[in-house]
Amino acid sequence: MAACAYRHTCRFFSKGRLDGFSGIAGLFEARYCGSDYTSCMRYQIAEARGFDSVPSDMYPNDVARARNLRSTAV
Ligand code: SF4
Repeated sequence: MAACAYRHTCRFFSKGRLDGFSGIAGLFEARYCGSDYTSCMRYQIAEARGFDSVPSDMYPNDVARARNLRSTAV
């Protein structure tokens, strides 16, 4: 499977929650960004509402927050 199309612009790594935490960022990257990116909540919200609507501090596995974002109007 190809890597996530948002990998180079995703604020989760460069200006988000894991900025400066390379170890944890690497675990998330291995789990989601390079393979199973369609299960990433950030990816799903970006696809549904646009990339700019994804909070920079939202984790890829934050299902509850993604559910709340989906239920609010764009
Ligand atoms: S965290 Fe999610 S949206 Fe960001 S690059 Fe990785 S898979 Fe894509």
